[in-house]
Amino acid sequence: MSNILFRDPNITVFQSALYQMNTTVVHTDDVVMVIDPGILPQEVKAIQQLVYEKRGDKPLYLLFTHSDYDHILGFRAFSPNRTFMTEAMANNPQKEAILAEAKAFDERYYLRRHYPLEYPQGNFLVYKDGVQFRIGQTKMSIYLMPGHTADSMMVIIWQLGLLVAGDYLSDLEFPFITHSSTDYVESLLKMNDIHDRNWFTRMVPGHGSMTFDLEGWMSRQQESLAYIYALRESISTGIPLDEESIWSRYPMQQSLKPYHEQNLALMRREFEADMWVWDPEALLQPERKPETGEEMEM
Ligand SMILES: [Zn+2]
Repeated sequence: MSNILFRDPNITVFQSALYQMNTTVVHTDDVVMVIDPGILPQEVKAIQQLVYEKRGDKPLYLLFTHSDYDHILGFRAFSPNRTFMTEAMANNPQKEAILAEAKAFDERYYLRRHYPLEYPQGNFLVYKDGVQFRIGQTKMSIYLMPGHTADSMMVIIWQLGLLVAGDYLSDLEFPFITHSSTDYVESLLKMNDIHDRNWFTRMVPGHGSMTFDLEGWMSRQQESLAYIYALRESISTGIPLDEESIWSRYPMQQSLKPYHEQNLALMRREFEADMWVWDPEALLQPERKPETGEEMEM
């Protein structure tokens, strides 16, 4: 029943039938990790089954890339030793509203779950960029990635050359900017430096297909930036946006149109509040560097 997008000896990526939402399970000699478990009850069961097979007496870590309801639906299906998220996610003032969205989703589709729906509680809260965490030979780095939401993060598993990107770098979705377009751009731009420091080849986005080389994620990074810059140019100059080119690149127009409208509304507000200026020259400036993290061992 469950759709496995990718599998190798240490990684299994499940893809939901809904929104092509990806759940990544990492299983090494040291630990089993589940990142963004979801969406449908049967799909969560298949993830539980794999965790059961792989866990033995190893610890289980649960990680959430951000607080959007589709990424947190599987929280209570697992009994992790540790739950990782950003501090911003743990303190998200919209917790109740997000949980209400999750419950409304289940009601809308008459879904019955074999576990309760709850907003995730974390006990490893990432509050700064580039935090590293090691258990045995398994090492990961976590980067704060505000922009899509205020509480987004990305995770890199070193030995596996794996980046789990959360809701960035999708081939199906242009940037969904619910937090800040300036933060979104900064997060995208710092990826080159993150890559230099961490090395990854394989990238799992929150939705859609994986990429397996440098060219793969970088072309999505460029397309995401191009989308944001096109909106900025149109908003600041008044020249109408070439929407056809957006829909030819991202064809799920029925679903995506409202997000595009929200992006426009948010970026118009940002423009009126002087949060950015359209300056094509500035696009040639060097990237921002992320801070160097410190290692935390368990
Ligand atoms: Zn999502």
